[in-house]
Parts: sequence; C-alpha cells; structure tokens
Amino acid sequence: MTAAIIDGPIIDGKAFAEALRARIAIEAAKFEVHAGRKAGLAVVLVGEDPASQVYVRSKGKQTVACGMNSFEHRLPADCAEGALLDIVERLNADPAVDGILVQLPLPDHIDEQQVIAAINPDKDVDGFHVVNSGRLSVGLPGFVPCTPLGCLMLLKDRLGSLSGLDAVVIGRSNIVGKPMAALLLAESCTVTVTHSRTKDLADVVRRADIVVAAVGRAEMVKGDWIKPGACVIDVGINRLPPADGADKGRLVGDVDYASVAQVAGAITPVPGGVGPMTIAVLLRNTLVAAHRNAGIELDEAAL
Ligand code: NDP
Repeated sequence: MTAAIIDGPIIDGKAFAEALRARIAIEAAKFEVHAGRKAGLAVVLVGEDPASQVYVRSKGKQTVACGMNSFEHRLPADCAEGALLDIVERLNADPAVDGILVQLPLPDHIDEQQVIAAINPDKDVDGFHVVNSGRLSVGLPGFVPCTPLGCLMLLKDRLGSLSGLDAVVIGRSNIVGKPMAALLLAESCTVTVTHSRTKDLADVVRRADIVVAAVGRAEMVKGDWIKPGACVIDVGINRLPPADGADKGRLVGDVDYASVAQVAGAITPVPGGVGPMTIAVLLRNTLVAAHRNAGIELDEAAL
C-alpha cells in the first residue's frame, strides 16, 4: 500500500481510492493479457430505488474505467424471488463473470439472506455470504465486505502497524461493524464492539486509539469522547434536513467533525473519506476474484 495521503489530520479517502483504482487498472490490464479475457463484475438491481440506481451506475462506470467488464441486470420491483435466484444461478455458471453483486436493499417480498446464500462464495465480492464471514472469522482467504476493508486500508496507510492498539467499533452490523472488528482483531488490536445497548459509550470510546463509527446517527460522536491523537474513521452517511430554501440537506457522518477534528490525530471527512473507498475496494475484490478463478497469481497485499 502507498502512503501518499497524509495531509495533516485529514485522511483523504478520495485520493487513496483514486490511487487504488490506478493500481487496479494496471493489474486488470495484465490480467487481460494472461487470461485472454477481461475480469468481469455483474451487478443485479431490483426495482427503481434512486439511490441504488446512482450506486449501480457509478459502479458500472468505475468498473469499465479500470479495464474490467461490467454486466448489469435489472429486474422490476415486483419480480418473483425465483427470477432473481435464476439470474444469480446463471451468473454463478458464467465464466466471464468473476464477481456478483446484488444491490441491497431488496424489496420486502424477497428474502435477502436467501439471495446472498445463492451466490457462489468465490464470486461473492461483497463478502456477505456466510462462507466468507466464516473465512474472515477463522482467518482463511475469502472476500471481506468492501466498506470495512476500505477502512482498514486507510488505517494501515496512516498508522502502519496496528498491533496492540485499542480499537472501538461503534455499531455491530453484518455489513460494517462485525467484519471491521474481525479485521482489527486480525491486525492484533484489542477490539471493543459497541452498540445501542452499550453503557457509558463516551467513556468506552475515550479509551480508544482507533475509533470506527458505523452507527447511522448524524454527528453523534463528539470531540470530548475522543482520546487526544486518536485515529477516527467515520463510516456514517447521514443527510441533515434541508436548511431554509435549499432542496437538499448537507451530508454528514456519525462523527461531529468540527469538534472531533480538534482532538483527533487523524480523521476521515464526510464526504470524501470512507465513501469513495467502498467502490474502489469492490473493484479490488473483483480483480482478486478474477485471478483466483483463473488460477493466475496476484500480489493481493500490494494492491
Ligand atoms: P445498521 O443500522 O445496520 O447498524 C447500526 C449499528 O449502530 C447497530 O449495531 C446499532 O446497534 C448501532 N447503534 C444505533 N444507535 C446507537 C447508539 N445510540 N449508540 C451506539 N450504537 C448505536 O447500519 P450500517 O452498519 O449498515 O451503517 C452504519 C452507517 O454507515 C450508516 O450511516 C450507513 O449509511 C453508513 N454506511 C456507509 C457506507 C459507505 O460506503 N461509506 C457503507 C455502509 C454503511 P444495535 O445493533 O444494538 O441496534
């Protein structure tokens, strides 16, 4: 990993993601030469959710920009679960597809867990399949969810070795909190996972050298919760109510940036911190999947 992103206390996720995509593009071109085909990512979108449409479009564009194939499949919001499972089966069997991503959330009548379970774990570039959670938990190679892996890359880029550091993860979701805790534990941090029932959260956070906030509550973590010099990673994406006359409110994280930036040694902004890392890591996972599926070597740690 490169260490190009140090700019005072701000951790520039946008610049790091850009550099990561540039490394991916180089390796994707080499893969094409060796494998005689491009690496491929298939994204399945059910329904018309505007935010999901934006994400899917952006994933497709960035996939192609990195020299990989993007396959998009769209289904109507009222499609039967069986129709979605059929597509997943076809993609599992398609040798041109290295990674499969089903855009979440799915409509209520579709069982998300059932759909994730149908994806071949070796094409599960989102890392949500229980086989991949199990691999992460026992330390086997698999696929790690993109957002927490992106957070880990930013932390290691800024801090180097994380061994022995106290880390507090706020939030215990399967997508962010739990895999983040597993990754930090694998780096030999002493990890505390907190959630909505945690007592004296501010006191717990105050002990941490590393704080990862993945809560979904605007600006909840305050400056006086933070140990001076701690490294703070803000995963939250929350839109505030619009100010007078504006059609949209401001985007903020789970961390009160103004007060925390005074105390923290390093902090990710929102936007421009963790957010840009998520798609970049998805492309990284797809490239890794392509190499593993084709039996071509890749120095994964150097990506
Ligand atoms: P979830 O809603 O699945 O999980 C939120 C977690 O926060 C839960 O574990 C919950 O505890 C905990 N929590 C809620 N309130 C409190 C509280 N007052 N004190 C302590 N813990 C609390 O959210 P996600 O993990 O999916 O996402 C978290 C945030 O990250 C959201 O803002 C989301 O938009 C953002 N996000 C950003 C991504 C990116 O690319 N940057 C990607 C994914 C998410 P409990 O389990 O007890 O309910």
